[in-house]
Amino acid sequence: MKIICIGRNYREHIKELNSPIPSTPVFFLKPDTSLLIRNRPFFLPGFSKEIHYEAELVLKICKVGKNIQEKYAHTYFDQIGIGLDFTARDLQNISKQQGLPWLISKGFDNAAPIGKFLPKSQFEDTGNINFHLVLNGEIVQKANSSEMIFSFDDIIAYISHFITLKTGDLIFTGTPSGVGPVKQGDKLEAYIENERLLKCDVK
Ligand code: MG
Repeated sequence: MKIICIGRNYREHIKELNSPIPSTPVFFLKPDTSLLIRNRPFFLPGFSKEIHYEAELVLKICKVGKNIQEKYAHTYFDQIGIGLDFTARDLQNISKQQGLPWLISKGFDNAAPIGKFLPKSQFEDTGNINFHLVLNGEIVQKANSSEMIFSFDDIIAYISHFITLKTGDLIFTGTPSGVGPVKQGDKLEAYIENERLLKCDVK
């Protein structure tokens, strides 16, 4: 399986990082070794002094697809969850300055905690999903899927134009504003609507 992540999909987050608004989805990959499951703790890696959390809605792909049309895109995912796109912001900033890929800043081991997934059928409207992230008891990120620049359908259609989607692939759909650093002892909890689906302690 592969993990595909969308960058720059919420206007307020683009502003907070002073990035340009994209005209097509920006995406990158994380390897399967970046997955962190079962609410296991995240150990701060020694190579970065600035690991940021980014809470994102995550789609689970349920069938193989290539060149998927937007009108059929919704049939290619059957579960929605929430995950963290952990980012070594210090390393990413160096990559950005040098025009280099983001892989080491995004794809290191355990950089993609994911929580429990919910069946898509449980959602009345996937274009109207509330989610939020709590850090040490305080809400730090809060958004609705309607605020995305590129919708789930746009994203699936666009990615599948270049890369075949396969059953079990995960798509991180971008983070809203409020990203920030984590430190040892932090407790992260991610919710869709009022259900806590992911817990991650930072060690
Ligand atoms: Mg992200």
